[in-house]
Amino acid sequence: MNEFVETLLDLPWQVGDPKPTYDVVIIGAGGHGLSTAYHLATRHGITNVCVLDAGFIGSGNSGRNTTIIRSNYGIPESVAFYQHSLEMYQTLEDETGCWIMHNQKGQIWMAHSVMSARTEQTRALMNQAMGAKTDYIGPDEVQRLCPQLDITGGGRYPVMGASYHHEGATARHDRVVWAYAQGALRAGVHVFQHTPVTGLIMSGDRVTGVRTAKGDISAGTVISAVGGHVSTVAGWAGVRIPIRTHALQAFVTNAYSQYLAPIISSSDLVFYVSQTPRGQMLIGAEFDRFASYRQATSFSYLQACAKKVVTMLPFMSNLRILRSWAGICDVSSDFSPIMGHSGVDGFMISTGWGTWGFKAIPAGGEQLAQLLATGSAPLIEPFGLDRFAKEAAMADPSSAGTR
Ligand SMILES: Cc1cc2nc3c(=O)[nH]c(=O)nc-3n(C[C@H](O)[C@H](O)[C@H](O)COP(=O)(O)OP(=O)(O)OC[C@H]3O[C@@H](n4cnc5c(N)ncnc54)[C@H](O)[C@@H]3O)c2cc1C
Repeated sequence: MNEFVETLLDLPWQVGDPKPTYDVVIIGAGGHGLSTAYHLATRHGITNVCVLDAGFIGSGNSGRNTTIIRSNYGIPESVAFYQHSLEMYQTLEDETGCWIMHNQKGQIWMAHSVMSARTEQTRALMNQAMGAKTDYIGPDEVQRLCPQLDITGGGRYPVMGASYHHEGATARHDRVVWAYAQGALRAGVHVFQHTPVTGLIMSGDRVTGVRTAKGDISAGTVISAVGGHVSTVAGWAGVRIPIRTHALQAFVTNAYSQYLAPIISSSDLVFYVSQTPRGQMLIGAEFDRFASYRQATSFSYLQACAKKVVTMLPFMSNLRILRSWAGICDVSSDFSPIMGHSGVDGFMISTGWGTWGFKAIPAGGEQLAQLLATGSAPLIEPFGLDRFAKEAAMADPSSAGTR
């Protein structure tokens, strides 16, 4: 029997159906739902918690993403939040005892125009002011850090400079999700897979539970952490959220025999590339323009992406595309997360993670659990749903495109 199966069998799974009542029911066993459950149990002693998923653990975007962890955002509140999450990733293996394959490799965010160079210079200064390690570097340093780059950009997209984010990293996505799942289960949380939530139970204006295929469950608090399905779930409580669901595609090539150290990103060309531990090249770009719940990939997307990638990294024209896939992302109107109270008693939300929420799994769960347990979580205060009514949007679109 292999080690993973042994670990699975060893976990304290709840057998049978969920209990009729829990203090907290979390809809969605993705990274954010499980991290919230884990932190409720381990930081606040709240263990009468149930996590329900329509599919299996990590079957949403948390098991489909391109695993980039970074904190080089463009507004102070986001830099502070993502830096905290990035630091939590650095110690997650020690904390959970699970090998998440965390690998700090640095991220080069290239500028191909004077305007973009200014944006990257500003990003570096803003990041430094908020505690994130980002420097603006010239083309020579870019070339030194990544010799495979054609810094003339095929004569069309010259690299004028870049911001270099020293602590940019990757970690194996399903290992992260399982680290939190195991930790939560061991702390007494119940997790039920293949248990879709079909509605919310309301008592007057308050959410008091969920309807599931396995019967109704009462809850002191219900938390929605359902990725791209948030509009449906929030709609059951009468909550409208400024979210549109879009598909995001990604693809991977066969293994490249050499080592490509940093993560390479370009917001002018809108693509990013990193090398997986197996040596494969992992490529992503912008989400599909039209809103959709379809998880299909398209040849036109592959073609457009591949053209940009081989322009900057010519060696990649010798690689073959092995697989492509997509996930459906909850994209907020200001490109920032929405976390906290929904405006309806008994109902909290963790959404707006769009194409950038993997890196936020540790801090997102920690902070939402803290808000529920103590009533205060200053790091996520700016990201409440009420910011839209207060005209205090946290607009940061230029940070979202490269995950
Ligand atoms: C191709 C791709 C690449 C990405 N790359 C990156 C990256 O490099 N870096 C980064 O930071 N982010 C990235 N992301 C974004 C990141 O993956 C997501 O933001 C993050 O995983 C969201 O986690 P979550 O827990 O909120 O949602 P999910 O992981 O989607 O989990 C939601 C869960 O809710 C369940 N669910 C839905 N409806 C119901 C229901 N009615 N009842 C019960 N369960 C339900 C689903 O089955 C699912 O398991 C990428 C996303 C994609 C698709």
